[in-house]
Amino acid sequence: MAVRVNCPTCKRGIAWSDDYPFRPFCSERCRLIDLGAWLSEQHAIPGKEPEFSDESASGGDSSPEN
Ligand SMILES: [Zn+2]
Repeated sequence: MAVRVNCPTCKRGIAWSDDYPFRPFCSERCRLIDLGAWLSEQHAIPGKEPEFSDESASGGDSSPEN
């Protein structure tokens, strides 16, 4: 009784068996596509984003003018 999974890339249903050495992907191509997408997402993220929330939290500079 084989466990069936869906290829994360093309959503094709495959059997979780030695027939698919690239599982959960249906093929090496789909595996590379998913890996490439993951890497490109990592590259898209800028190195470090400055957090301004810490600056406003220190406060003390608020001068209500009424
Ligand atoms: Zn696939």
